Amino acid sequence: MSSQKMLDRIRHDKRIWAHRVLTKHDQNPFFRVMRSVNAPIVDVEGQQRIMLGSNNYMGLADHPLVVEGARTALDKYGATVTGSRLLNGTIDLHMELEAELADWHGTEAAIVFTTGYQANLGAISALVGVGDTVVVDSGAHASIYDACRLSRANIRAFRHNQVDKLEEKLSRSEGAILVVVDGLYSMHGDLPPLVEIAALCEKYDAALMVDEAHSVAVMGPQLTGVAEMFGIADDVDVRMGCFSKGLGSSGGFVAGSTDIVDAMRCHARTFMFTTAGVPAALGAAQAAIRLARSSEGQERSRRVLGNARYLHDGLAAAGVDVGTESNTPLPDGTEMISAIVPVNIRDDLKAMNIWKEVYDQGIFVSYATFPAVAQGAAMLRVCLQADHTTEQLDRTIDVISKVIAGHGLLRQAEPVSVS
Ligand code: PMP
Repeated sequence: MSSQKMLDRIRHDKRIWAHRVLTKHDQNPFFRVMRSVNAPIVDVEGQQRIMLGSNNYMGLADHPLVVEGARTALDKYGATVTGSRLLNGTIDLHMELEAELADWHGTEAAIVFTTGYQANLGAISALVGVGDTVVVDSGAHASIYDACRLSRANIRAFRHNQVDKLEEKLSRSEGAILVVVDGLYSMHGDLPPLVEIAALCEKYDAALMVDEAHSVAVMGPQLTGVAEMFGIADDVDVRMGCFSKGLGSSGGFVAGSTDIVDAMRCHARTFMFTTAGVPAALGAAQAAIRLARSSEGQERSRRVLGNARYLHDGLAAAGVDVGTESNTPLPDGTEMISAIVPVNIRDDLKAMNIWKEVYDQGIFVSYATFPAVAQGAAMLRVCLQADHTTEQLDRTIDVISKVIAGHGLLRQAEPVSVS
């Protein structure tokens, strides 16, 4: 490398140093090589393991109709569209997909991005700029923070899920105001107090954006996500979602008014200056949306949320800490257990050792540490799928609770209220 300064910086970077040490180490939870990815049982490094670390919540990523949708689009349009949406990259499949997304969400319009990350970057930076304010939950996804920086608006973060803190920030905001929250927080699987947030947006003339990456296709009466589940979908100005999780494909979108969507078509740099998503991803997404909107979608949603409740209650009954401090009850007062169940361990090294013991017993979960979660909040992120069997879940409960017990981390088992 010709820049000695850059080379020195890389060699002294703590994160790169830790990565190099860790990837040589047997306990390493990152970059494990998958030989199959989507089913409830996958091949990781030559061994069959129960996959509880995938965002394939609805089990659509390898669903025959979704694979067929991908294949049909691949055959028809080829491997890629080799161009930006603005120029030669818009195909009729984009137009169909955008019309179907708008119809599903009951909005005037929708716009498809190549990834969910780019959807967030493009959406936020197209809507606010210098002199405006973007108010963000402190637990919001990294792409939302990157988007805020790209927008050059003033950034105000409020403490996770605390509406009084949100109001404090709103009362001191200037210019056009955009409030951005996740519909479902991707690490702890907790829900925001969306009804109160929407009311504050109304009070302070702020637009509201909800990132439904982990909830679209999984939650809400029509499975469009948490805003719909809380009955306030019409109060959300920017409804962002991903194809890459519940919908089993790849890509991102925003559904909203014609004004909002046109702002993105004309100002979102991550829409204009990148190659449109590959046709296979669009074809898969279209098939997955149709499935999500069918009775099979409803049935799969029931199964994944039932599986989540079963695993959560089983682990809690065994004394494993699966708590989220900030989960918001539904309007009927019940607590929703999402498809993401956190196993809180807190200490990094212990969490890594626990991860490895669980892995060695044939179970793949995700290990999460700072900056994915707060400092000192290391955890295992356990994700359910519609196709997990009770037998697989029983084995998971048994393995995780025994490993946690072996580290002296079991709490006194509490009776779990079933709602
Ligand atoms: N928002 C949230 C809340 C996410 O968790 C993610 C990805 N994990 C994204 C946006 C980005 O989506 P994609 O992976 O489709 O780029």
